[in-house]
Amino acid sequence: MNLRIPGPTPVPDAILGAMSRPMINHRGPVFAKMIGEVTASLQGCFRTTGDVLTITSSGTGGLEAAVVNVLSPGDKVLAVAVGFFGDRFSDIAQLYGAEVTKMEFEAGHGADPERIRQHLKRHPDTKAVLVTHNGSSTGVTNPLPQIAKVVRETDALLVVDAVSSIVGIDVRTDEWGLDVVATASQKAWAAPPGLAMVSMSERAWAANKVARMPRYYFDLAAAKSWLNRGQTLATPAVSVFFALHEALKMIEAEGLDNAIARHARVGQRMRASARELGLELFAEPSVVSNTVTAIKAPAGISGNKIVEVLRDVHGIELAGGQGAFAGKIFRVGHLGWVDEADMDLVIEALRAALPKLGFRVGAAAAR
Ligand SMILES: *Cc1c(COP(=O)(O)O)cnc(C)c1O
Repeated sequence: MNLRIPGPTPVPDAILGAMSRPMINHRGPVFAKMIGEVTASLQGCFRTTGDVLTITSSGTGGLEAAVVNVLSPGDKVLAVAVGFFGDRFSDIAQLYGAEVTKMEFEAGHGADPERIRQHLKRHPDTKAVLVTHNGSSTGVTNPLPQIAKVVRETDALLVVDAVSSIVGIDVRTDEWGLDVVATASQKAWAAPPGLAMVSMSERAWAANKVARMPRYYFDLAAAKSWLNRGQTLATPAVSVFFALHEALKMIEAEGLDNAIARHARVGQRMRASARELGLELFAEPSVVSNTVTAIKAPAGISGNKIVEVLRDVHGIELAGGQGAFAGKIFRVGHLGWVDEADMDLVIEALRAALPKLGFRVGAAAAR
């Protein structure tokens, strides 16, 4: 099966091979050396000299860690909710007792930095702003540098869901002043699911000292003190560590800038080819994502049907729409170890499948 969903991604053989290595003592010197190397590489990819902690969980665990390590119940939080995972980020903060204001934007549009600035002016006691960098449910990449700029005019922490962006889309943690950034191994890193990686700025550590939201497994101060000894608090997903270690070597060999540029080319190829077929993109052109493309299901055809035919007839696994967009859109993931030829296979399958579902390929483009 040709897996083209927004994570997990296809995993290169070298990375899969690393996973089949025998177990090691996670409190021994081999693991200590590995977690040290992994952490240093991650710092490079996050573009930070600050701390990056790796925890055994999916991306959602990373988001939970990001929230509970810097906030207290009753803290005022602005959740810039773009897409399905923006809602999840907001829900986590709310569940742990933050006073959350949710700022929503029209689906397919990016967050507006000016509206964030106005909100922060009216609510100077806002402790943190939660932002989804790349909304994988709608194929939208928020203007993170501009958002960071307006948040940095205040004392609020900027907490970022970069789960489906880092390595595929540039994230400059230190330069932009991002306080907490979370990502996960099964996204652009091209490793299997199982590890979440979270960075903490100096400002975030200062907030951590007084943050009272409960945490045990996701306690990042504890994670840091274990990391100083080359270990993790609890038994880590050792095999996924092997995989991430290998994945990071491959990213370093390619070069981070090259990996980001490759994702830009691949995203561009997907969008141009989809338009050529006469399909319409869901996201506004100024905020289209380079790691996932959301495409509107043509009138009268369910997006789920397109997903089904591509899977059953063409062996290509796409993603349907989530929540309110179920059936209305379908999504192509293009993050991790992908190139333009991978997109061409998806497009050829769509070119063959859509006419059978009653869509005249190229009709709109010819106009
Ligand atoms: C995939 C994804 C998540 C959730 O990750 P899980 O690993 O499924 O918990 C969160 N946010 C974004 C933007 C994602 O793309």
